[in-house]
Amino acid sequence: SRLVIAIDGPSGSGKSSTARGVARALDLSYLDTGAMYRAVAVAFLDAGVAPQDEAGVIAATVAADIQISLDPDDRWVRVNGRDVTTEIREPRVAQHVSAVSTLAACRENLVARQRTLMDADPRGCVAEGRDVTTVIYPDADVRVLLTADPQARLARRGGELGARVNTEQLRDQVLRRDADDSKLVDFTHAADGVHLLDTTHLSLDEVIRAVVALAKE
Ligand code: C5P
Repeated sequence: SRLVIAIDGPSGSGKSSTARGVARALDLSYLDTGAMYRAVAVAFLDAGVAPQDEAGVIAATVAADIQISLDPDDRWVRVNGRDVTTEIREPRVAQHVSAVSTLAACRENLVARQRTLMDADPRGCVAEGRDVTTVIYPDADVRVLLTADPQARLARRGGELGARVNTEQLRDQVLRRDADDSKLVDFTHAADGVHLLDTTHLSLDEVIRAVVALAKE
């Protein structure tokens, strides 16, 4: 039977690596919902829409043709026919993504697409983001909220981006996105039926094993 696993958490909580590892271990598809918000940010910036132009951002979201890989071993995303796999990780995109994620109309549009993508594979899916456990798929078989101390999350983000990154800038960026995103989701309290998993002192393998164990319960 199908297995659906929903994983939420803040930036640097390890949710992408965890979700991919769980998808591999259980042979499920994988959906990065944040990549879709990032792809839409690229689309509205490409179209010359100003971040404050709410109607423009909503129109660009609704019109965006988003193609995204559901393979945990081959991540790619295309928007309006263009491959934006690496571009969506650029600071300019992280800086403007809240122009999309704070608008209810944009969220509704993306949530509907995300549900469809999560249902696409008959084996099931592991999806990660901010609202997978609460809004996109509250009926998921396993729901997990990953947390980690801000220092651990900063270190992980720094590790992902490489040694050349400016730590002060990174700190500002991560903390600012936390502040923006905490308006969307309460990262400190798990909703009813959601397992809270603090990864501060766990290795990636330990986190993956913990989620796989929940799926086998
Ligand atoms: O997960 P990631 O850090 O790539 O997400 C980028 C941004 O997309 C988040 O900072 C958040 O604003 C938005 N997002 C969201 N809901 C999701 C996933 C991401 O609002 N389910």
